[in-house]
Amino acid sequence: MESIWEHRSFSGRADLLVVGAGITGLFTALHAKRQSPLLRITVVERGMHPCGASVKNAGFACFGSPGQLLHDLDEEGAATALGRVEERWRGLQELRQTLGDDAIGYAPVGGYEVFPAGDPQYVAVAGRLGELNQALRGIFGHDVFSWQDGRIAALGLHAGHLAWNALEGSVDSGMLMRALLQRVQGEGVEVRFSIGVERWEEEAEGVVLHLQGGGTLRGRRAVIATNGYTRALVPGSDILPGRGQVLLTAPVPGLRLKGTFHQDVGYYYYRDFHGRVLLGGGRHLDKAGETTTGEGTTPLIQEALENLLHTTILPGHTVRIERRWSGIMGFRTHGGPPVVEHLSPHVVLAAGLGGIGVAVGIRVARRAAEMVA
Ligand SMILES: Cc1cc2nc3c(=O)[nH]c(=O)nc-3n(C[C@H](O)[C@H](O)[C@H](O)COP(=O)(O)OP(=O)(O)OC[C@H]3O[C@@H](n4cnc5c(N)ncnc54)[C@H](O)[C@@H]3O)c2cc1C
Repeated sequence: MESIWEHRSFSGRADLLVVGAGITGLFTALHAKRQSPLLRITVVERGMHPCGASVKNAGFACFGSPGQLLHDLDEEGAATALGRVEERWRGLQELRQTLGDDAIGYAPVGGYEVFPAGDPQYVAVAGRLGELNQALRGIFGHDVFSWQDGRIAALGLHAGHLAWNALEGSVDSGMLMRALLQRVQGEGVEVRFSIGVERWEEEAEGVVLHLQGGGTLRGRRAVIATNGYTRALVPGSDILPGRGQVLLTAPVPGLRLKGTFHQDVGYYYYRDFHGRVLLGGGRHLDKAGETTTGEGTTPLIQEALENLLHTTILPGHTVRIERRWSGIMGFRTHGGPPVVEHLSPHVVLAAGLGGIGVAVGIRVARRAAEMVA
């Protein structure tokens, strides 16, 4: 009993189906629409709104702390590690230009790597900061990192050393995703919520998505942008889920913390958010347990976060925890960059953005859109 209008405008074959309305899926749809404005593009999202890592993250607009970057240089070699920094840096510029700083709540607050007193990592990083700055000159044209130990007291931290990067900032991830969604819909992409995809099948003319609870959607092409949830749709994928836990304090009167802060080679991260402290990380304390798509928090990791809060970030303060949450990232099994590849002639996978999707999401999406063009 389907009318011709329903068939032609809603239920018939789309030119492009995108699974997942995170930063990757929505930017894929936007790029594809801009490449070919007449295409009928539909994004399907299982949540009532985007509900993956893109709306659970810490909102760091960053490209790596000195400890992380030196680790990457040693592990991957200069060409790969520096290529990745450049990709992140370009991604951040494109994100800001595309959506606008006001719309995404961008604040150019700068970033720090925090080293507690006596931290052996400090010695390793201090001896090589010049080498790192030199390596990054090809991308930025000037030194990126400097020591700013003199600011420790002003920020209210209990720490030994601070490495400073003026180029980092923070975003409001909720504003970012709202702005992106509005842009995508405003440019004519259809976004359908509360539609979970159970499996997909390649057809002679395209692809069919089998939906949870029954029903199908057909498209000439599809992009799967489900990041940490990818294995449910692509069982052989080398992308594993990685849960990240976060806590947010109640407002802290006179909070002096300002900026984005990385600690312990990026395993902990914190920032101020409207007079509160937003703090996340600790996944390394239970890697096996946190390799899950299940949402939730655990006493082990929440206690570690609270311990960091009381020893380093707000020493001597008693503060209420207002909110706790978790989000699911997608990591390649052996590290490595995000995957953008054909799974079949009509289906492309764009996933595995790790902990840096705010920076690289827009560029991963562009490659996916070009691949299905
Ligand atoms: C706690 C935490 C902190 C982080 N902090 C930062 C940070 O400060 N800076 C930074 O750059 N990055 C950060 N990240 C990483 C960043 O958030 C991710 O890399 C990025 O959001 C990934 O975007 P995505 O669109 O690929 O995936 P997601 O945002 O996860 O989107 C995937 C979407 O697919 C949907 N979906 C899944 N399966 C199906 C299905 N079968 N059918 C339909 N829909 C489906 C999901 O509901 C979800 O909305 C953080 C992540 C977490 C979890």
